[in-house]
Amino acid sequence: MLLEGPSTWTRVLEKLENSTPDYVYKNWFSHIRELGFDGSRISLGVPNLFHRDWILDHYGDLLRRTLGSVVGHPVEVEFSVDPRGSAAAVAEARTAERPKPDVQISVVSVGDPAAPRAKINDRYTFDSFVVGPSNQLAAAAALAVADKPGRVYNPLFIYGGSGLGKTHLLHAIGNRILERDPGVRLVPTSAEQFLNEFVVLLRKGRMEDFRRKFRQDVDVLMMDDIQFLKKEAQETQNELFHTFNELHAAQKAIILTSDVHPNELANLESRLRSRFAAGLIADVFEPPFEVRVAILKRKAELERLHLSDDVVHFVANGFKRNVRELEGALTRLAAHTSLTGKPLTLHYAEEILHDMLPAKQALSMDHVIKVAARYYRLEVEDLKGERRTRPIAHARAVAMYFCRKLIAKASLPAIADGFGGKHHTTVLSAVEKTAERRAKDPEFARELEEIERQIGA
Ligand code: ADP
Ligand code: MG
Repeated sequence: MLLEGPSTWTRVLEKLENSTPDYVYKNWFSHIRELGFDGSRISLGVPNLFHRDWILDHYGDLLRRTLGSVVGHPVEVEFSVDPRGSAAAVAEARTAERPKPDVQISVVSVGDPAAPRAKINDRYTFDSFVVGPSNQLAAAAALAVADKPGRVYNPLFIYGGSGLGKTHLLHAIGNRILERDPGVRLVPTSAEQFLNEFVVLLRKGRMEDFRRKFRQDVDVLMMDDIQFLKKEAQETQNELFHTFNELHAAQKAIILTSDVHPNELANLESRLRSRFAAGLIADVFEPPFEVRVAILKRKAELERLHLSDDVVHFVANGFKRNVRELEGALTRLAAHTSLTGKPLTLHYAEEILHDMLPAKQALSMDHVIKVAARYYRLEVEDLKGERRTRPIAHARAVAMYFCRKLIAKASLPAIADGFGGKHHTTVLSAVEKTAERRAKDPEFARELEEIERQIGA
């Protein structure tokens, strides 16, 4: 029977739209079209290969989970290049279709345990990883494990927020081991995949296969996103515990990643937690400005995109929490400049990235006046009123100065209005005198710095 109603993909898109940031949805999902679905395999049209790889690298899990939840069981996904893309998709295609030698898979099975298991991403190498204070320990530990797998830091547990390089480091270890010895049996997996395969193979009565894969045919077990394991998945946890013990006893390397410290993995049995914590625990945290700049420069170089310093600084300032978003911004810049052929000025970059940036709260005059009043222990009414005692006149002038300096829209008459209807020449003279004194009087300059910090512009 044919069920009427929105197509599977339409329902998946609805879910994705609600669960991803706007720019992710617009850039990556909205261009995908459903080409066919037979109940167990969905065929999706993407604008180009780059698009497919990006989706798989960054949103593969999400896509699989969402599809699974819409359909009710795991679904295989097949991608093909669908030339009927939108203009934006064409833009991406232009930047994207530079040869990417590491791309080979064209049909990718997701969620089917019989399918070839997750591959190592060969773009995630130590070479392409920028090391800074935010990831130094984790990178050094990863390198040590790559050089002596199973013999140092076993297990290595890497934890930290999303998009900070955990998966990258995990795969970098794998790539380096393979480089030295292509015969090493790496088993890249994730807690989610481990659980899925366990459930499916258990049901099919194929535990032998499961154990062979994760216990016997293994030299290095790489398990990503361990936080995924749920409390309810007791049997899976039990299986993981024994897998861990067996590998550990045989000095097989185990590398784990998680978005939190092992102690905070509340869903995990305590005996597993203590096993995980027994080796080395290394964290990655948010990269400081210099590291963000270095990452942007490195990626731009790889993309052969020329970025001026002011654009690099703008992007580095706009995306502070997450390297994945930094990369997303860069990809977007590359796509737009290649489509329009316009030079990538700061102004143009701002325009392109406008809707990806967290909306900045516009600074209001009232906020500035409030902060100044609080600093000088006066009332807002004092600053807006008519009284002209010295302390009040001083605070009022400083507040006017900051309104002028920090609020782009604030004209002299607008400021005069905001201070209870003064004359605009009063504002002008207050602003000028304050600026002059700031230049001459270091103590006053420090006072202004502190107020500006409190205003938090
Ligand atoms: P996580 O697994 O911590 O969520 P990923 O390892 O997937 O994050 O990193 C997200 C993206 O950011 C990847 O494309 C990765 O290559 C990139 N990335 C993260 N940290 C760095 C870094 N220090 N140098 C270069 N690229 C990085
Ligand atoms: Mg990851």
